Amino acid sequence: MPTKPLDRLMFVQGGLCFFCKQPLPKTEASVEHLFASANGGSNSDENCVACCKTVNRLLGSMSLKEKFQVVLNQKGQFKCPNGVGSAKVATQSKAPVIAQPKSDKLALVVANLKQRGNSKPRTLKTLKSTIVSLFPSGLPDSELSTIVQQLQSTKKVTVSENKVTYAL
Ligand SMILES: [Zn+2]
Repeated sequence: MPTKPLDRLMFVQGGLCFFCKQPLPKTEASVEHLFASANGGSNSDENCVACCKTVNRLLGSMSLKEKFQVVLNQKGQFKCPNGVGSAKVATQSKAPVIAQPKSDKLALVVANLKQRGNSKPRTLKTLKSTIVSLFPSGLPDSELSTIVQQLQSTKKVTVSENKVTYAL
């Protein structure tokens, strides 16, 4: 068993910061006294956690109540203010939106059909293939039929015996 307090705590915490749960390099690790030693907190392991130096500095000698406040204010997304987690967040927010709301797709379809002037698809089959071609990343059949249904229920498109007329 590691004997230095920091090594012990890191071992117990699986190498993660107690607060942000990010992998904690030893150079960034520090021992945080939950009940601050300045206020009489003990050095025993039950009063200590290993965490990012930055959050340790931030918590400083706050009372336990204030520390709880800081932690709870993160609303379950605790990130120590050291930038370790922020890169991950940035790439997540740049990730493509996988499920666009259907209304956006409908709006896109309507806008495209309007642009076509007199060369709009005249049959249900060509209308469907036109709609599908607007979504290069693919459009599930279920969404295609939803869009066609929405076009009809909003009276923008009328389908009669596979002939399509428009009121855009
Ligand atoms: Zn941390």
